[in-house]
Amino acid sequence: MNSLRRYEIKFIKGIGPKRAELLEKELGIRSVYDLLHHFPHSYLDRSSIYHINQLYGEMPMVQLRGRFVSFNTIGEGAKLRLVGLFTDGTGTIEIVWFKRIKILKDMYLPGIEYILFGKPEMFNNKWSMVHPEIDTTRSTGDMLGLRGVYPLTEKLRNAGISSRTIHSFIQSALQSIRLISDPLPAYIIERYKLLPLNEAIATIHHPKGHDQLNRAKYRLKFEELFYLQINILRYSSRRNAKLTGFQFPRIGRFFNQFYNECLPFELTDAQKRVIKEIRADMGTGRQMNRLLQGDVGSGKTLVALLCMLIALDNNTQACLMAPTEILATQHFETISQMASKIGVNVKLLTGSTRKKERDIIHTQLENGSLHILIGTHAVIEDNVKFKNLGFVVIDEQHRFGVMQRSRLWEKNNTPPHVLVMTATPIPRTLAMTVYGDLDVSVIDQLPPGRKPVTTLLKYENSRLDVYKAIGRQLKLGRQVYIVYPLIKENEKLDLKCLEEGYQSIVDTFPSYKVAYVHGRMKPAEKDWQMELFASHKADILVATTVIEVGVNVPNASVMVIENAERFGLSQLHQLRGRVGRGADKSYCVLMSKPQMSRETHQRLELMTTTNDGFVIAEADLKMRGPGDLEGTMQSGIALNLQIANLATDGPIVSLARNAAEDLLDNDPQLSLPQHSAIANELNILFNKKIDLSRIS
Ligand code: ADP
Ligand code: MG
Repeated sequence: MNSLRRYEIKFIKGIGPKRAELLEKELGIRSVYDLLHHFPHSYLDRSSIYHINQLYGEMPMVQLRGRFVSFNTIGEGAKLRLVGLFTDGTGTIEIVWFKRIKILKDMYLPGIEYILFGKPEMFNNKWSMVHPEIDTTRSTGDMLGLRGVYPLTEKLRNAGISSRTIHSFIQSALQSIRLISDPLPAYIIERYKLLPLNEAIATIHHPKGHDQLNRAKYRLKFEELFYLQINILRYSSRRNAKLTGFQFPRIGRFFNQFYNECLPFELTDAQKRVIKEIRADMGTGRQMNRLLQGDVGSGKTLVALLCMLIALDNNTQACLMAPTEILATQHFETISQMASKIGVNVKLLTGSTRKKERDIIHTQLENGSLHILIGTHAVIEDNVKFKNLGFVVIDEQHRFGVMQRSRLWEKNNTPPHVLVMTATPIPRTLAMTVYGDLDVSVIDQLPPGRKPVTTLLKYENSRLDVYKAIGRQLKLGRQVYIVYPLIKENEKLDLKCLEEGYQSIVDTFPSYKVAYVHGRMKPAEKDWQMELFASHKADILVATTVIEVGVNVPNASVMVIENAERFGLSQLHQLRGRVGRGADKSYCVLMSKPQMSRETHQRLELMTTTNDGFVIAEADLKMRGPGDLEGTMQSGIALNLQIANLATDGPIVSLARNAAEDLLDNDPQLSLPQHSAIANELNILFNKKIDLSRIS
């Protein structure tokens, strides 16, 4: 492989220095290695030949086999064209050229058999094809099968480099090297039934059929994901060895008393299992970094509290960090109410905590009399010092950056255990890549007695009915959310939409109080409006997606989402999770305009058929790709995948993960000779060393 990386493309037949320069500038292709890894983005099917009488309506590019009957130049000036009449015995088609007429006229001869490849079009009731590719039947041997279409740029096209030119460069490169040495050892190739690299590369550029293409893709994806997983695992195992953490051997007074006397309800099996997993982690003496996933309403808070109590039982303090002031306050209220019964000292620290209270908090944290601190990112400010911080819970992780998180464990000599809680389910295969070294626990069960939210898709013409239904719920004493999208590109228009919506709600429901929240408000005003709704001083909340995360108003039974077509699936699911938290039957109404793409319709339909966050997350990932997750690179791992796709290649991710685990179990330093090529690839691929040990 290394020799291919050093082999410059200018030495390949047909490329030369000028084109080499252009290819490097436009596509970053320098070496033969780069060229061979410039994979087609799609394929044209040249595996079958059509008859002219089989042509119909709109067709993709097709192949025809036959002979020219005649050639004629028609028209003048700009309209001058060469028309060849072509037949295969089942019908005729006009082949039209607008350029290079003089040369072409003598290039093709009537009577000789050719294969044409192009897009047939019906024009004046006659079939025609403009500028097709033409080969004699003798020379087409290597053109049959699937033909790769390569990514190109405008500049390359202008310089006369087409997809076909790239294909021919690759073919001559393949001819000029004898063998591509395979970095994967024979036992892996055998165990995972992979094509040898040589064959995979040759095939991906020129597959004979779909089966072959799939095998080639599988091999190349596997290899790419394999390196990625090894990289993730070797950092995490290095960290596991390095970062010793607190060992919590004890379950003591706090946990036991709370569990036996104060537990407000029986834990679900899933909650019990997750607590066991966390406890086991905290007993190892290594720092825990765990992601706790659980759908909205699955009861993560209680799990967090019980784990914090274990930390207290082992003479350390705990801290819970939430992304917004309102969420921090809600957590504080729930937790202090539950925990004060057993003499646990809980305090709240946010941006608006008064100096006097702040001073008390600082003192109590340092002398150890404050057990649990709950707050916003105010808790990671430098002047907040703990006596002995043992356990940190971070709610709704995506609002906190990696750096912010790492500041928490710099607060102690021994890094605290970290539990990151999220209600945005991430498919397992993605989690294992994006959160590489985080262990994952899942609460896959809702507390009993929950009535699933009924979701309805409604169009503008039934708005009046929707309002009537809202009126009925309000009359029953329930509360209603109405949410508008707020998308940056068009902030003004969105705000107008929201304001008009607010006005029409106020007009429609004159006897109810309506609160109003959007992202541009000052935090204090926003909190005030939210508080109106949370305390039921307001019956309706008109808002943008600022309410998406975590707000808990069990009396709210209706969630109306305006312009639902503009939201992603996961976001819709989050919003829907705001209702269905109390005992009442709840509804989520997706309002949309009737015209929408098929994909959008599918997305909204899916919402009406399932309440399962994981099903939705998988579908969202498939429909939109992991874009955002990859883009924000929460893990800090550069995911520059060339051929694998985390959204759709989940099964291959799992296999690659297994292979990587086996490899590192047997040869953690990759020092065995049969693994030296792998070590080498890893060094090249991940040479920008990232210190993953600081990432949670
Ligand atoms: P989330 O996982 O979305 O943060 P919460 O922790 O806010 O969910 O819990 C949602 C609601 O379910 C809360 O009102 C909580 O008191 C309740 N709850 C949690 N666990 C149970 C349980 N085992 N049985 C019944 N209700 C529960
Ligand atoms: Mg929560």
